[in-house]
Amino acid sequence: MSAPAIFKSVLLPVDIWETPASLKHVSTAAGIALANACPVHALTVLPDAAAIEHYRFSAVTFDDALARAESELRALLERMVPAAVSWTCGVVRGDVYKEILRTAQDRAVDLIVMAAHRPRMTDFLIGSNAEKVVRHAKCSVLIVRE
Ligand code: ADP
Repeated sequence: MSAPAIFKSVLLPVDIWETPASLKHVSTAAGIALANACPVHALTVLPDAAAIEHYRFSAVTFDDALARAESELRALLERMVPAAVSWTCGVVRGDVYKEILRTAQDRAVDLIVMAAHRPRMTDFLIGSNAEKVVRHAKCSVLIVRE
């Protein structure tokens, strides 16, 4: 007898510019989705046009940067999420934590899975976006630590 599903859909915010070592939460979200037979929606947020260079895009327009980010996100999911898990993904412009909260509401997800912070930010128990999402989300939030 298999265990009853607890979650119906999972939001997976992904900072695609992070090192693979800090993407443990991607595998965690995929494992939860597999166990619950539920879909995952992965989301990457591009903060603003001025940040494009910082994010190593040589693209000149914001639309180019969005398209490029989406193809990187897709490649990452194809690599890290088992074929049995159904997933969708999107890249949006805006403030990271606000777009995560907005997407969680719009898609009526019941779980958000995030990493605690960037690896080099270990002095902080929790990153600024993770903290704000935990504080304001209406659904459950899982913070995955290394
Ligand atoms: P830090 O302040 O150390 O960068 P964050 O709170 O920003 O920590 O990062 C923790 C988590 O927030 C990441 O694992 C990811 O889930 C989410 N996140 C951060 N930046 C982005 C982004 N640009 N797009 C989507 N999710 C993000």
